[in-house]
Amino acid sequence: MSEKRSLDMVGKTARKWLQERGVEIQDIADLVFYLQEKYHPNLQMKDCIDNVERVLAKREVQNAILTGIQLDMLTDKGLLEEPLQSMLETDESLYGVDEILAFSIVNVYGSIGFTNYGFIDKMKPGILEKLNDKSSGVCNTFLDDIVGAIAAAASSRLAHRAANAE
Ligand SMILES: [Mg+2]
Repeated sequence: MSEKRSLDMVGKTARKWLQERGVEIQDIADLVFYLQEKYHPNLQMKDCIDNVERVLAKREVQNAILTGIQLDMLTDKGLLEEPLQSMLETDESLYGVDEILAFSIVNVYGSIGFTNYGFIDKMKPGILEKLNDKSSGVCNTFLDDIVGAIAAAASSRLAHRAANAE
């Protein structure tokens, strides 16, 4: 496979897997709007969508998405070995690697991403509440952190650009 083609495939697969696991770009853009509306009175949804798209275009973000969702999918199929299988199935609170992986996304646009991530992880608005619903029977141990991190990174990008424009 040529380098260019494989790059393309990474990005396409990352987007496809997000969608297959029930996450649309709009869901993440809604989180960005939630995080940023109080700071930007004229905030437009299309700017939120655009910033999510820019975050998703980054290779390190795509890598984190593929890795995290792959582990969630293998957990659903019962294909991991113990003790990891049970730890991911129950979203064990002392595990923490899901959050570490999410930090590689949050990091992309600087440190205000961390504040946004911490806040959204605590509040769990919109799609995050859905992903955290354990009664769904689907493992979203990695996905919830990944989605929160993409929203936090997109918020940071939006905030930096707004600050530069002023
Ligand atoms: Mg998690």
